[in-house]
Amino acid sequence: LGKDDVVLRTEDLRKTFGGLVATDGVSVEIERGTITGMIGPNGAGKSTLFNLISGFYELDGGRVWVNDTDVTDLKPYETAREGLVRTFQTPRRLEGMTVREAMLVGATNQSGESILPLWLSPSKVLNEERANVERAERLLERFEIGHLIDQPSTDLSGGQLKLVELARAFTTDPDILLLDEPVAGVNPTLANDIKRFIRELNDEGQTFLIIEHDMPFIMDLADPVIVLDQGKVLMEGTPEAVRSDQRVIDAYLGG
Ligand code: ADP
Ligand code: MG
Repeated sequence: LGKDDVVLRTEDLRKTFGGLVATDGVSVEIERGTITGMIGPNGAGKSTLFNLISGFYELDGGRVWVNDTDVTDLKPYETAREGLVRTFQTPRRLEGMTVREAMLVGATNQSGESILPLWLSPSKVLNEERANVERAERLLERFEIGHLIDQPSTDLSGGQLKLVELARAFTTDPDILLLDEPVAGVNPTLANDIKRFIRELNDEGQTFLIIEHDMPFIMDLADPVIVLDQGKVLMEGTPEAVRSDQRVIDAYLGG
């Protein structure tokens, strides 16, 4: 892969919790424009890897690059600024916020954050705010939840919260989106909707790295698929290659 084709690269990532090695030297390259799947048995270290990449956990070793920029020591919001955004396996409830507010918290270019630009050019700040609101509305429409914009986020169903989480992830226009189990606990109809949304966005060029337990879902959507087991990359390949690989079968059966 050429430099420009790689949107995310990790080298020898390591993380231990006490005596437990959760991430044991993970090196991966994610190609721009792909939907890359990440599977592996429970406890394989998938979520930990996302936490390391996105800056939510401190690394014990290794490096991470986004668009060839070293983001190893950056905070999550700084990594997001470099183009990498992640969602959580369990979406956070945004206490006290409406969907609109939750969307705006995630938006970039908020010069209103500092008082100085407001004082220097109030109309610019207002224009940006209006643009952010319009953008939020467009994103919610895209995920077919435009009607929820004034709902308190505490009133949302689990499925609606998943969609808001997805929409929010796009407010910073990421180069790569990391989704941690986007259809876990979601009914089959909504799971199909989410699959359709991901496909449509990918057709428009959006790169995804997706952890998912639902095999039919991820095998239908992703190519390539990376298999993690005991903190290590067990293999990477097409869904067909992964499905028929004896090591993968053993990893799942061995537990
Ligand atoms: P997966 O997402 O593949 O199911 P995780 O990355 O959540 O696996 O967990 C990998 C291992 O690391 C598990 O044994 C888990 O118990 C452990 N682990 C994950 N996060 C923490 C943490 N914050 N503190 C202690 N142990 C953790
Ligand atoms: Mg997990």
